[in-house]
Order: sequence, then C-alpha cells, then structure tokens
Amino acid sequence: MTHPSESHTTALAGKDFVPGPVLILGAPGAGKGTQAQLLVDKYNIPQISTGDLLRGNIARGTELGLKAKEIMSSGHLVDDEIVNQMVLHRLQENDIHRGYILDGYPRTLEQAKFLDDTTADPVFLSRLPVIAVSMVVSYDKLLQRITGRRICPFCKHIYNVYSNPSKVAGVCNFDGARLTQRADDTESVFIERMKTFEEQTAPVVAHYHDQGRFEEADGNQDLEAVNDAIEQAIFKLRRASRG
Ligand SMILES: [Zn+2]
Repeated sequence: MTHPSESHTTALAGKDFVPGPVLILGAPGAGKGTQAQLLVDKYNIPQISTGDLLRGNIARGTELGLKAKEIMSSGHLVDDEIVNQMVLHRLQENDIHRGYILDGYPRTLEQAKFLDDTTADPVFLSRLPVIAVSMVVSYDKLLQRITGRRICPFCKHIYNVYSNPSKVAGVCNFDGARLTQRADDTESVFIERMKTFEEQTAPVVAHYHDQGRFEEADGNQDLEAVNDAIEQAIFKLRRASRG
C-alpha cells in the first residue's frame, strides 16, 4: 500500500523519528484500529492493546492469564490491577524501545497514572512519556459507520451501506452471500456505548491535556488524511515532550 502523504510526513518527522508511547483515543466507530495499524506499520513498533494482552496471557497460560480466565468465566470484567500487571510485563520486552501504540489502554485515570509511573521507571526501555491523540469524528458520521455496517457471514468482508456499499444491495461482492448486520449495531446501542465512552474517556483526556500531552486529530477525513493528521499531532507532542 502506498500513502500519498508519506513523503510529507516522513520529511516532517525525519527518518530517525522515535514516536515513543502513543495512545490513540477514539469513539466506537472512529476507526482507531485501522489507524493504529497504519502507525504500527509505518514506525515499525508494536501495538499494545488490552484485548491482545488478555488473549496472549491466557493462551500462554501465564499466572495473570489464568487469573483473568477465572474472572472472565465467572462473568466478571478483569480488574485494573490484572490489566496493569499484564502491561507492566509487556513493557519489559525488547521490542518497545522505540515506542508502541496503545489502543484501549489506559482506559481509566488510574490506569493512566499507573502507566505514567511505569514509563518513568528507569527499568523500562522506552522512558518517553505517553502522548495521547484523540481522533475526533462527528456524531452523525460515527452513527452511520455503526448502523450502516454489513458483514459477509462467509468471507467476513465488511461493507457499509453509506460509505462502502456492496455492488448489489445486501449481497457480498465476492461470494454472493447475503450480508448480515450485527445485533448490536443499532442506534440505541451506539448511544449507550458513546455515553460510556465519554464518561470513561473524559478523565483520561483531562489527565493528558493538563500535562500538555494531548492533541486532537480530525477524523472526518479519508484514511490517509486522518493518518497524516495523527502523525502531525504525534510529532508536535513528541517534540514538545522532549523540551
Ligand atoms: Zn463474502
């Protein structure tokens, strides 16, 4: 994949640019996962997400993984302490010295403070402070992304009736299977998720904002333009955080 914006941002950031730890924030449907992956590829740094950490620890049968599995199988959510410990272990691996992309962690103020203490510890390879970039997408656009989503049950290709429709309405381009909608891709579920997201994220945003480690990026654009906006925000914040 080629990025029209690549030469611009590479020139901006310089080829020796070290992004350090970058938290990507965004509402449900903002396209956080896609943008996180683009940054991972471009900077050649790992992504650290709560979901991956949980799955990885459970798959490897670590002590934390076993604990998490037990909690989850009893129908509860894994608490901050276990997630924090998983992050702590992850940050001791060698691949994070130039930075990493955080997705879904820190989710709470307590986690953000824990991460700050952790990254400041001389034991860790990447001691740069975490910077946070929030992808801002309009409410209507987010709603369309969620309620317009259609999935092929056969090849798992994802369409959107507003922005990326199949050639024949309701039918997969590749295999002719009838497209389905996930049961929770509705406006009422979306409204609930937005409320939860805003309540949870506000203290995290305020934390980074107060310390001059927060920027917004316009997420109402095409993939490349959003990526460009995020990279410019990262560069600006990292330059500032180094003094
Ligand atoms: Zn298909």
